[in-house]
Amino acid sequence: MRENYRDLRIAILGGGTVGAQVAHRLLEAGDELGQRSGAGLELIGVAVRDLKAERSAPIPAALLTTDAQSLLVGADIVVELMGGIEPARSLILQALQSGADVITANKALLAEHGPELFAAAAKVGAQLYYEAAVAAAIPIIRPLRDSLAGDHVRKIMGIVNGTTNYILDEMDTKGLSFDQALKAASDLGYAEADPTADIEGYDAAQKACILSSLAFHTAVPLADVYREGITDISASQMDAAKRSGHVIKLLAICERLVDPITHQEGVSTRVHPTLIPRDHPLAAAHGANNAVYVEAEAAGPLMFYGAGAGGLQTASAVLGDIVSAARRHVVGGPGVGESTHAGLPSVPLAHVESRLQISVIVIDQPGVLAAIAGVFSEHDVSVETLHQSGAMGPAGSEQTATLVIQTHLASEARGQATIEALEKHPVVVSIAGVLRVEG
Ligand code: NAP
Repeated sequence: MRENYRDLRIAILGGGTVGAQVAHRLLEAGDELGQRSGAGLELIGVAVRDLKAERSAPIPAALLTTDAQSLLVGADIVVELMGGIEPARSLILQALQSGADVITANKALLAEHGPELFAAAAKVGAQLYYEAAVAAAIPIIRPLRDSLAGDHVRKIMGIVNGTTNYILDEMDTKGLSFDQALKAASDLGYAEADPTADIEGYDAAQKACILSSLAFHTAVPLADVYREGITDISASQMDAAKRSGHVIKLLAICERLVDPITHQEGVSTRVHPTLIPRDHPLAAAHGANNAVYVEAEAAGPLMFYGAGAGGLQTASAVLGDIVSAARRHVVGGPGVGESTHAGLPSVPLAHVESRLQISVIVIDQPGVLAAIAGVFSEHDVSVETLHQSGAMGPAGSEQTATLVIQTHLASEARGQATIEALEKHPVVVSIAGVLRVEG
């Protein structure tokens, strides 16, 4: 530790699932973390709403306060673990303006207000750290920002929401319906009382926005992230995936590509249920775990895997940020700002090329296969495989069958036009499901 260096004053905003663990570990292991930082680490307080609420790890009553604003005064490092947009945003801005480094795990705030917060930090030479905001315990922010800073990231595919991964894994491995798997996730505490943010893909979209911005040196607006959730995934789609050697995962996909329409380089950021081959590294992410697969030009494929939630696990990433911030204070100098020099445009989903797997219920009669193949060729979408997955029994007076068609790469716009034409075709009873295929 540097001689005569004063202790760094650390304020934590929020003493909940993550905040209590961070505070507790700082109190327990502060000396050791101080040795690693080169400065003493002093926890000056933890701001909460209810002083009497039960904590997941013990915090001395003398450190708890409901006055978050006053706690910030004189802090060197502010750790925001309250969640939500306000008052977290205002408090972080206040902390940055006073020159403190800020650590946050708040993906919602970063996805919606990241550029404002990074600009406020840059203005005073402070730094904003956010390793825990994506995939919690898994180191992914620092590898993208530092380790891969000399490379050229082409694509990221991430399982960044543990709740949806748990649900899809239960459906795949135990044959549960979506509703049964959601209930199992709720019973285990993986799903919130209102699971919308997870199952509709909003949480994954916020993380995709953060990853895309970082990997492609571009401020990607959250509004440009395409989002689809998993609520429509059926047991029959799960079966079809298995039969074709795939598994369904909710993926956050961040891709740097040349827009086939404008011929300009841009960024596509999208979240949707996706079929991936069962031997893809991401298929091995079971239960509520997260995994992030990165393809970089020189490094090739890289895989990051581990716990994407949990108080203790998330605290690990936050504490790593505290040590980094403390080291920076010891060395001095301005913080490292966000790199947005590439300023790439977002590529609209309609321009992105995808491979689709379309399950179509058709009237089982001679000439149906040719009629369906004709719809694809009329829309310039080439069929890679076509399987008839068994007769479905009578629908009204007619016998029906399910066709599972996988296409080669085609623009989303052409794929969509094909689906619309199929829906209107006289031999088609209904479209049972559409999934994009990766890997
Ligand atoms: P949490 O359990 O709900 O805790 C929130 C804490 O903030 C509570 O201590 C609460 O006080 C306090 N708080 C909220 N509003 C406040 C206000 N206006 N003034 C003062 N205190 C206030 O949340 P969490 O699960 O720890 O999550 C914290 C952050 O980490 C979120 O941004 C979340 O997205 C992120 N994160 C969480 C996980 C995870 O596994 N939990 C993983 C990755 C990232 P009371 O205790 O008195 O109510």
